Amino acid sequence: MKKKALYPGSFDPITYGHLDIIKRASEIFDELTIAIVDNPDKHPLFSIQERKELIMTVIKADNVRIDSFQGLLVQYATDNNFQTIIRGLRAVSDFDYEFQMSLTNRRLGENIDTIFFMTDEKYSYLSSSIVKQVCRYGGDISSFVPDDVAIELKEKLK
Ligand code: ADP
Repeated sequence: MKKKALYPGSFDPITYGHLDIIKRASEIFDELTIAIVDNPDKHPLFSIQERKELIMTVIKADNVRIDSFQGLLVQYATDNNFQTIIRGLRAVSDFDYEFQMSLTNRRLGENIDTIFFMTDEKYSYLSSSIVKQVCRYGGDISSFVPDDVAIELKEKLK
């Protein structure tokens, strides 16, 4: 049976930190689905469609799919037969929240487990919000996101 996993997140926009997790997870699992959380309460900069297109532009692996969902992650995972959720951990500060979410998800969906990938130390400080902030004030974001993402981000924040 195919080993498949789900990598949920905002990806607003996708960064080299996300791409590193995607690369490593897609080498371990037969199929990886990136699931963009459709949550307008977070006031995302990019629409779901724009985020999907950006991810499609920068993903090389052919066993990676892209989807989006609203509502509970566990519901989406159960409806689509996922048992494994992938998340990235950057610092101890990520841990509390991720630990709580992972236990909640396992309580809500008994067969669902979360696997954490430690960030590459190069990206341990990197987040979509930091990239947006640096870009907004004209800083160089070329080491944070691929060129295609940088172009769209600059355009958006003009
Ligand atoms: P969310 O709003 O769900 O946290 P993000 O797009 O910010 O969405 O992050 C999605 C996932 O990717 C999270 O598990 C987050 O910890 C992980 N992630 C984000 N940036 C990095 C990074 N630089 N290194 C490793 N993991 C990361």
